[in-house]
Amino acid sequence: MRMILLGPPGAGKGTQAAVLSATLKIPHISTGDIFRANIKGGTPLGLLAKSYIDSGKLVPDDVTVDIVANRLKEEDCASGFIMDGFPRTVPQAVMFDEMLAKPGKKVEVVINITVEDSIIVKRLSGRRMCSCGRTYHIDNNPPKVEEICDFCNSSLYIRDDDKEETIKERLKTYHEQTSPLVDYYQEKGLIMNFDGSKPIDVTTREILDSLKNKLIDFED
Ligand code: AMP
Repeated sequence: MRMILLGPPGAGKGTQAAVLSATLKIPHISTGDIFRANIKGGTPLGLLAKSYIDSGKLVPDDVTVDIVANRLKEEDCASGFIMDGFPRTVPQAVMFDEMLAKPGKKVEVVINITVEDSIIVKRLSGRRMCSCGRTYHIDNNPPKVEEICDFCNSSLYIRDDDKEETIKERLKTYHEQTSPLVDYYQEKGLIMNFDGSKPIDVTTREILDSLKNKLIDFED
């Protein structure tokens, strides 16, 4: 299954992608995670990406598409993928379609998770991360001990781009550059809409039920 998760920052794409990846047994590919790993590792790509990410802007299309093309060459992508945060512009979507078309493949499902801006600002400003990959929220999903990861005891941190000013810029970027993708995929008949303001597990259930109704075969 070749699937895209679409939606504004803070819609819960990463969380849903992790569950869907485990259930459908296909890799979760997050361009944001790839950029953050490169920033952490101090690579040239990380250096380039950091300035865009920290200001709430998008990394240039050609750089981003190259990263995805390389990731898709890996063996685990043979039977599909869940794209989280890619594509984010219409040119990326067009290049992605061309990339998949070469070996005769295409995007099969686009899960569009919608959430109002006011909820997003609250969600992202309360988000806390752990270096082990787990994510918390100070109100909705707090750790047992304040600011400490339940699993590895490390101190939690706030993503640089989860600062309020940057959140606003990311939302602006989303509305200007990413939301046109809803029409792009709607025209191809691929969009399935979900209300991301519901509790995470409710949205997960709704997504899995809809996929089952589409006769996609999996055990959950
Ligand atoms: P995310 O973790 O998906 O919210 O991504 C964090 C940041 O990485 C975004 O705000 C962008 O600056 C950058 N980024 C992630 N994916 C893309 C993409 N497909 N195109 C351009 N920039 C991206």
